[in-house]
Amino acid sequence: METTIKTDVLIIGAGPTGLSLAAQLVRHDIDFVIIEKNEGLTPFSKAIGVQARTLEIYEQIGLAQKAVEQGAIAGKARMVVGGEIRAEIDLSNIGQGLSAYPYMLLLEQSKNERLLYEYLQRKGKEVLWKAEFKSLSQTEAGTSAQIVTATGSSQTIEANYLVGCDGAKSLVRHALGLEFQGSTVERMFFVADVQVDWKFSHDALHVCLSQDSLLAFFPLKGDKRYRIVGSFPEEFAKEEGEVLYEEIEQRIKEKAQLDLDIHDVDWFSTYKVHTRHVNKFSEGRCFLAGDSAHIHTPAGGQGMNTGIQDGYNLAWKVALVLEDKAHEKLLETYNEERLENARNLTRSTDRMFQFLASSEWFLAFLRTNVLPSMAKYILSLDSARNFMFTLISQIGINYRHGSL
Ligand SMILES: Cc1cc2nc3c(=O)[nH]c(=O)nc-3n(C[C@H](O)[C@H](O)[C@H](O)COP(=O)(O)OP(=O)(O)OC[C@H]3O[C@@H](n4cnc5c(N)ncnc54)[C@H](O)[C@@H]3O)c2cc1C
Repeated sequence: METTIKTDVLIIGAGPTGLSLAAQLVRHDIDFVIIEKNEGLTPFSKAIGVQARTLEIYEQIGLAQKAVEQGAIAGKARMVVGGEIRAEIDLSNIGQGLSAYPYMLLLEQSKNERLLYEYLQRKGKEVLWKAEFKSLSQTEAGTSAQIVTATGSSQTIEANYLVGCDGAKSLVRHALGLEFQGSTVERMFFVADVQVDWKFSHDALHVCLSQDSLLAFFPLKGDKRYRIVGSFPEEFAKEEGEVLYEEIEQRIKEKAQLDLDIHDVDWFSTYKVHTRHVNKFSEGRCFLAGDSAHIHTPAGGQGMNTGIQDGYNLAWKVALVLEDKAHEKLLETYNEERLENARNLTRSTDRMFQFLASSEWFLAFLRTNVLPSMAKYILSLDSARNFMFTLISQIGINYRHGSL
């Protein structure tokens, strides 16, 4: 028999966005239900860059210290061209004076999700696992969602507000009929969590600069452990899932031009990326957050962080409206602020990716010849360092010019 659950907020998807929105709603003492079609947290490491703004948000729920302890701070970056180090930059304190977390933390998405999930559990909350969202309807008074539960039965969840945190292929976005605008050009990326034996020490991020693609080695916690991220060239025609690990390893060795031994592969994956964002983040009482609303290249490590911040922005507004402390119009500023952010984000990550991986001769020349000799000097200038840190750490995002 079909049953109905009633709640204030229904969150669809327990990735980093949904879990962090749930954590914020706990903080504001708002009732919610969070559903997830999988049977548990992702076992895959996926995103690894945790930015200062995210750590500031974690601090408010007592998770920042734990995250820092579990992760590795990106202390230095080395630029490698033709197998040789051409520049070394100190990143350990790059945002000094700008944030209590003046660095980029490297902590796998799976570990971020676990931190958030355990926070929810400590607060007496649980995810409804193996519960899949199927359809929704809404009126001026509320939303109603149909889900199928772990036992295969249908259930209705009625909520004042519904938030689709259901990732890039979002069914909520489709159900709301929102557009997902952007480039149709896709690039294929690969990621691999491995151990590497090579001539370089394990205390730095290594970026191999080449003529046509991205290749970077991020040191992870653990002996010789690295996350390798790279891209295939534009003309690469295979689909996700068709690429064998051997092809990835061969490409890494070819592009790094280094004598290296890669072993103990914990995880590898390929994924295709468009650059897109929705035309609006909400429709009536339904909202989107995270990858359901914006996707882009991994350049700059922004994806997971942006979803966490979407959730943060929405949670306090929903809380004030539900507590009758603010007019519903406040919720319109979620779309206004986060849509503008998504536009800026897709532009800046595209530019970063172009600069790091484009095969266009001038950019390739700048990257392999000019950047290594200029980078140290540029980052020795306070204004340039502050600009870079403020942009990448996301602490520069503000809405002072907005309607609020
Ligand atoms: C292989 C890989 C590597 C990546 N590497 C990087 C990186 O290096 N840097 C970076 O910034 N980003 C990276 N990303 C992107 C990053 O993982 C995403 O930006 C981030 O996961 C977005 O979080 P999210 O919670 O919005 O979406 P997701 O993590 O996709 O979570 C959505 C959740 O919703 C659930 N769901 C979907 N549909 C339904 C439904 N109908 N009912 C119930 N539940 C549903 C899904 O099962 C999932 O758990 C990578 C992604 C992949 C796949």
